[in-house]
Amino acid sequence: MHKIGFGYDIHRLEAGRRLVLGGTELPFPAGLLGHSDGDALVHAVIDALFGALGEGDIGAHFPDTDPRHKDARSTGFLDAVVGLVRARGAEIVNIDSVVVAEEPKMGPHIPAMKAALAPILGIPAASLGIKAKTNEGLGPVGEKRAIACYAVALLRFPD
Ligand code: MG
Repeated sequence: MHKIGFGYDIHRLEAGRRLVLGGTELPFPAGLLGHSDGDALVHAVIDALFGALGEGDIGAHFPDTDPRHKDARSTGFLDAVVGLVRARGAEIVNIDSVVVAEEPKMGPHIPAMKAALAPILGIPAASLGIKAKTNEGLGPVGEKRAIACYAVALLRFPD
């Protein structure tokens, strides 16, 4: 049996913070505000996995009221969720995602994001889609006040 899940996340950009996206630090004068490192791409992927597992969402599993999660690396959350997938006897078939950001240009950083995340997910880089778009100057993302991410995940469960 196969199940898909869908995830979305958006974080505000704040001057002077590290920009961590896709488990990778990008050189940029602003970063994503969050209790953890604010990695909206990893958060969207995590919610896609929870969706396919029928398991609520990232806020329920890793609450931002928990001081242990302050400034935590989101890849650590992802590692825990992949552990849950495996504990269910499931495997990740593929993941696809979209980063919506006006700046910085994502294209040059996508190979590093795939290299950071695919091993954690236990899938080949070719099974992890990361695509980048601008928001054509529209809304808070277009005004460079936030970065939004979308992800889908396909899981295969034992019959
Ligand atoms: Mg988030």
